[in-house]
Amino acid sequence: MKMTNKFGFQISHTVFSLLFVSLLYIANNAVNIDKIAQWFHAGNDIHYTALAAYLILGWCLFLIFFLLLAHPWTIKPLAIVLLFLSAAATYFIDKYNVAIDRSMVMNTVHTDATEVTGLLSAQMLPYLVLLAVIPAIIVLKLDIRFQRSGKYLLKSLGLMALAFVIGMSALYAKFDSISQAVNLSRKYVVHTLVPVNFIRSSISATSRTLEPYFKQHKEPVVFNGKVTRQDDLVVVLAIGETSRQKNFALYGYGKNTNPVLSQIDGLAVLDGKARIGSTLYALPEILEKNDIKLPLATSSVGIDTACYVNYSLYDNCDAVGEIEPTECGHDGVCYDEDVIPLLKDNLASYQQGYRFVVLHLGGGSHGPSYSDRYPPEFQIFKPMCTDADVVNQCTLEQIYNSYDNTILYVDYVVGKIIDTLEQSGAPYVFIYLSDHGESLLENGRIFHGMPPGIPLPPEQRDIPLLVKSSVPIEITEKDAYWQQDVYDTVLDLFCIESETFDKQDSFIRKVR
Ligand SMILES: [Zn+2]
Repeated sequence: MKMTNKFGFQISHTVFSLLFVSLLYIANNAVNIDKIAQWFHAGNDIHYTALAAYLILGWCLFLIFFLLLAHPWTIKPLAIVLLFLSAAATYFIDKYNVAIDRSMVMNTVHTDATEVTGLLSAQMLPYLVLLAVIPAIIVLKLDIRFQRSGKYLLKSLGLMALAFVIGMSALYAKFDSISQAVNLSRKYVVHTLVPVNFIRSSISATSRTLEPYFKQHKEPVVFNGKVTRQDDLVVVLAIGETSRQKNFALYGYGKNTNPVLSQIDGLAVLDGKARIGSTLYALPEILEKNDIKLPLATSSVGIDTACYVNYSLYDNCDAVGEIEPTECGHDGVCYDEDVIPLLKDNLASYQQGYRFVVLHLGGGSHGPSYSDRYPPEFQIFKPMCTDADVVNQCTLEQIYNSYDNTILYVDYVVGKIIDTLEQSGAPYVFIYLSDHGESLLENGRIFHGMPPGIPLPPEQRDIPLLVKSSVPIEITEKDAYWQQDVYDTVLDLFCIESETFDKQDSFIRKVR
């Protein structure tokens, strides 16, 4: 691949890639580094090693992305497009403090030309000239050499593997601080890091746009099973959010966070365990087995099934679909209790047979603004933490108070669900569990989620698991009740026989 050599020297594609990625990354992010650094504090100081680990991770991801797409005919156009997009992103972050996320990319794509030109201004010129035009001219003049196809691809792969190892090492070494910065800033540190921000958002926007096309072509999952014994029973499975055993009075917490549930007779308090600390991946732990969603399993054997959600169960209700509350009691602001009227209506039509209802109490105890999860009348424990930057603006006592109020509210909502079931007169089994727990500065950790391969710390792993019923049941004694056992328990309660079903994992049996 001989090209005119205008500078009198040639450069190999790997050296070019390393130089280009590094220079673009440093030049653009230097402009806005203070905006990123402010989220990496340790007390009043910047946590420099964590910030460095984060920046190295971003650089590695950018290098991998670039090498994937950098081939003899694409490397220069790719580099030039990245230069211009990066310069524009840097300008908008610097001037308007914008977050470059998926919605912003989608808006930009769908904005017409007049609106875009309205955003451009003379102030943008220095950014464009220094960060894009001059570097682009240099890129155009360079003679980038590629070895024969097999060889250059191997070199790219080697470099990508190295970048992957370095990036992952940086992430694992400083995981707690990095995840803290990402969560506290509500991903602002990701949305500000050029060009990771717009690459990530573009990939996300593209996959969101293409998703429906792929879904249509996916083979529908078929559940093979049958009900072996008919009976009258309503099973209600309520899934909470980020609530942990440690702050439940029912599990021995010192403050009375369970004034309602502690008064309920026959409530079984079990040692629930979560494996995964992210909602998106934790929900399938409860609602999916062998690719089959639990609501689909029950509905496909003819059981009346419904999912009522505050927020979303994502796709875990499959074809059954999700229903959100239409009326929210607190001036249009929805809280978890707003799914209860939907349950009430459902139960009003119940006469006999099996019925399954999944409730998603998606507000639960999710941070960082714990106080947004409950209506004002549940602001009982005070002083509360009202700043989203819980680590630096609030004391531990304030964080605990805000969090404990979420548990008070969970107590109220779960109590009201049980009351609704009791009032309905339907024969029922009710199960409540949380998707995962939460760290509240145990070992310096905050919020939830651990990298793959690292088990959840106890405060994120130990989740409340409560069972109440109006029919006689037996609960198997176990050291730990894992989320996947709930799936088998529901199949067992409905006497569903299937190859998906592990009888030995079911822990509730109806006494007949
Ligand atoms: Zn969650």
